[in-house]
Amino acid sequence: MSVTRVRSAPVVDYSWQVSAACVGIPGEVFLGPDDERPLDRIRREALALRVCGACPVRDACLQHALQVPERYGVWGNTTPEQRLTLRAADRGVQTSGAPDVY
Ligand code: SF4
Repeated sequence: MSVTRVRSAPVVDYSWQVSAACVGIPGEVFLGPDDERPLDRIRREALALRVCGACPVRDACLQHALQVPERYGVWGNTTPEQRLTLRAADRGVQTSGAPDVY
């Protein structure tokens, strides 16, 4: 008789999302189009970061974004470039802050 192990999916708690400051705000504020112009991106990210800055669940959001990892958009009061830097620092790697190729 053989025993088969069945892996269960990890339990992920997204309950923090119900308290998010971005609820009701269009997703386009946090994630721009592929062909977004640099100045538009700077403006959009500044707006998104203002929302995140007042968000009561930004720490949980940032942990989620780092763990997945979320490569695009503003999450947890960080831009994609800031998260690259955080992940690199976590691995002990120094970066110039320049983004990876997306
Ligand atoms: S930190 Fe920003 S992206 Fe994350 S839940 Fe809060 S408002 Fe939304």
